[in-house]
Formats: sequence, C-alpha cells, structure tokens
Amino acid sequence: MMNHNHRASGFAMWVTIDTVTQLSGVGMTRPAAILGAWVCGAAAAWPDVDHPDSGPAHTLDRVIPGLPALINRVCGHRGATHWATTAVAIGAILGWLSWVTAPAMWFLALAVGLGWLTHVLGDCPTYGGAPLFGPFSRRIIHITPYGYRFPTGGEFELTRVTPALQTWAVVATVASITATITR
Ligand SMILES: [Zn+2]
Repeated sequence: MMNHNHRASGFAMWVTIDTVTQLSGVGMTRPAAILGAWVCGAAAAWPDVDHPDSGPAHTLDRVIPGLPALINRVCGHRGATHWATTAVAIGAILGWLSWVTAPAMWFLALAVGLGWLTHVLGDCPTYGGAPLFGPFSRRIIHITPYGYRFPTGGEFELTRVTPALQTWAVVATVASITATITR
C-alpha cells in the first residue's frame, strides 16, 4: 500500500483501540490516546524503509547515509521489515527500553509495534502480499482471495482504499471523542 494509506490505517487502528478500551471501561489517558495515535500512524510508514524511494528511506538516509540502501540490499523490498515477527520484536525492544528508562511511556512502544504490524497487514491484500511469518516461513501471505487483491498505487487503491481508510480514521476519531465526552 501507499505511504499515506499506511499512516491512515495506523492512526485509525490506535484510535479504534482507544474507543474500544474506553467503552469497555479501561481506557487510556487522553495524552496517551492522542500521542499514541500520532506515533502509531507515523510508525506504520516505516516498514517501507526497505524501499529506496520511500519517505522513511529518504528520512533515514539523511540521518545515517547509506543505511536504507544497505537494508534494501540485505532484505530486499518486503523482506525482513515486513515480517510480523519484526513488528513484535521492535515493540518488545522498545517496551523493555521504556520499562528501564521511562515506564510511563510504555504505550509508545506499543504504538510503534502496532503501527508496524498494521503496515505489514495492510500490504497483505495487495498483489505483492507480505512474508508475515518470516523468518519461520518464506510464504507470502495474502489475506484476501485472488480477485480481491489490488496493486500498490493503482487506481483501485486511490479510488477505493484511500477513501475507505480515511473514513475509518474519521469515524474512529468521532467515536473516540464521543466516548471521551460521555464517559
Ligand atoms: Zn510495505
């Protein structure tokens, strides 16, 4: 999927979880909801750091020149950065870091891991799919049957997927705000 759709899905995912947890009486603090949604959306763009033309690759290249090219050479596009295992590992490492440094920020680790995972799942309905279960399996996973897949950046994604994800983000935000007000 395209960068802006990954961001929208990561944002919407966090806000949806916020709404559900609020409705179930648990709920997170409002700063955690807002900051988490932003971080989850931003993190959802990062698995494509393995593609030299992606936004994250350009950003990382400015910080550590040559690193995105190295990642691309080692992993290829939609390689190790597109494993669900990588999402869980990154979330776990950041979770541990926050536990030893700033326990109150644990939700940011969860937001990064969840955003990363949302990206990987978001690539699954495209023709390219994603190797979800790497390194344990090389199989490319598609979560939809053949006729229900779309090419990344194609007309279907632009005219159908983009509005659908944006609608999801808006509906989730409205639901979250409503749940906050009525709590
Ligand atoms: Zn991707």
